[in-house]
Amino acid sequence: MQTADSIGSEVALAFLDLDNFKLVNDSLGHSVGDQLLKIVAGRICELTSDQGSLARIGGDEFVIILEQMDLESCLGRLSAIREAVARPIVLNDIELRVTCSIGVASYPNHGKTAGELLASADMAMYRAKELGRDGIALFTSEMTATVRRKLSRTDELRQALLREEFVLHYQPQVDVQTGRIVAAEALIRWNHPSEGRVYPGDFIALAEETGLIMPIGEWVLRTACRQAKAWQDKGLDPIRISVNVSARQFQEKRLIETVATALSESGLDPIWLELEITESLIMKDLASSIARMHELETLGVKLAVDDFGTGYSSLSALKRFPLSRLKIDRSFIADIPHDADDMAITSAIISLAQKLGLQVIAEGVETEEQARFLVESGCNEIQGYFYSRPVEEERFNRMLENNGGMHPLLQTQPS
Ligand code: C2E
Ligand code: MG
Ligand code: MG
Repeated sequence: MQTADSIGSEVALAFLDLDNFKLVNDSLGHSVGDQLLKIVAGRICELTSDQGSLARIGGDEFVIILEQMDLESCLGRLSAIREAVARPIVLNDIELRVTCSIGVASYPNHGKTAGELLASADMAMYRAKELGRDGIALFTSEMTATVRRKLSRTDELRQALLREEFVLHYQPQVDVQTGRIVAAEALIRWNHPSEGRVYPGDFIALAEETGLIMPIGEWVLRTACRQAKAWQDKGLDPIRISVNVSARQFQEKRLIETVATALSESGLDPIWLELEITESLIMKDLASSIARMHELETLGVKLAVDDFGTGYSSLSALKRFPLSRLKIDRSFIADIPHDADDMAITSAIISLAQKLGLQVIAEGVETEEQARFLVESGCNEIQGYFYSRPVEEERFNRMLENNGGMHPLLQTQPS
C-alpha cells in the first residue's frame, strides 16, 4: 500500500474460497483434502508469483495481492486463476473438479487500511457465493450498505427478544373425519415497533445466519408448550401443538435439553408436542438426522416432516425415521384441481404415508375443492385458509371453545 501511494498506483486484494471443499474432506478424507489444497495452491501460485503474493489464511481460503495492475488486467488474471483451479485434479484414481469463489477489492478505493480492504474483499467473496459460486465479484459500496443493514437488523432482532416483540399465532389443523380441530401450528410473528407485523419469511433466515434462532426458537418452544397446557387447564379438549424447528436448532445438541425444559416448565405431556422438521434438512445429513430424531423420540414428542415433497427424500430411509406425520407441501395443493400431476403426486404421498403407517396432513388448503380431493384421497388432516388463517391466541381460544360441530365440508359425505 505504501508503494502504491508513492507511485500513485493501485493494489488489488482478492479473497478466494473453494466451493464445497468440506464435501471433499467429508467424502474422501482429510489426506485427499490436503493434497487437493496443495495442488490448487500451486496453480494459484504460478499465476501470481510474477506480480503479487499469495497467502493461505484458513482451511480453504486464500488471499491474493496483485500489485500495480489496473482493475481490468487484474480481473483478467483472476479469471485465469479461477479457470486453473477448476481444471480436473486426479487423486487416488478419482477425478475431482473444484471451483472457487473470488471477491476483489482495490486500494485505495475500497479500503484505506489492510483490515478494511480484507473486509471489503471478504464481502465481495460472499456476494460471489450468493451469485451461485464459481465466480468473481468486485466490491461495491452497496455491499457495505447491505452489511450495515444486516447488522442493524440483527441488533433489532436481538432487542425484539428482550422487548417481547414476538408473538405466536396459531393455525388449526383439522381432522377430516370429525371436522374438529385436533392440533395447532405455532407460527411466529414480529410486532416491529415501526414496521408493524413482520412475517417469519422476512427474519427467520437472518436469525439462522446469526445464531439468534437459538434463543428465539427456545422462546417459541416455551411459549407454545405453555399455551397448549393453558388450553388444557381451561378444560378444553387437549390438542397437539406443532412447533417449527429450523436447521440450526436441529443441528445443535442443546435442542434436546431445550425441548425437555419447555415441557417440564409448562407441565405439558410430551405426547401433545410435535416438532416440524423440513424434509430438505433431514436429508442433508441422514445419519445424524436419524440419531437426533431418536433422541427426540425418547422425550416422547412427535415428529413431522414439513414441506414434504419438495426435498429429495430417500424413500427407503423414510421407514427408518421415528416419524408420526408427513406434511404435504402447499405447492402441491395450490393447483388442485387444475394440475393433474400435482393431484397424482398428492395422492401418491398419501398412499405412501398410509403404507408406512404414518399420518398425513396437507398444508395450504384454500378451497373446498382441494379439501374434498384430499378427503377422498384419504388424507387425515388439513390445514389452510379454507378452514382458518393463523390467528391470535384470543381468536384461537374462541375456535377451541366451539370445537364441537362438524365442518360444513364434511356434511357432504365423500364418495
Ligand atoms: P411452514 O411451517 O410451512 O408454515 C406454513 C406457512 O404457510 C405459514 O406461513 C402459514 O401462514 C402459511 N399458510 C397457511 N395456510 C395457508 C394457505 O391456505 N395458503 C397459503 N398461501 N399459505 C398458508 P408463515 O406463518 O409466514 O411462516 C412461514 C414459514 O416460516 C413457516 O413455513 C416456517 O417454516 C417458518 N416459521 C414460522 N414460525 C416459525 C418458528 O417459530 N420457528 C421457525 N424456525 N420457523 C418458523
Ligand atoms: Mg411448519
Ligand atoms: Mg410447510
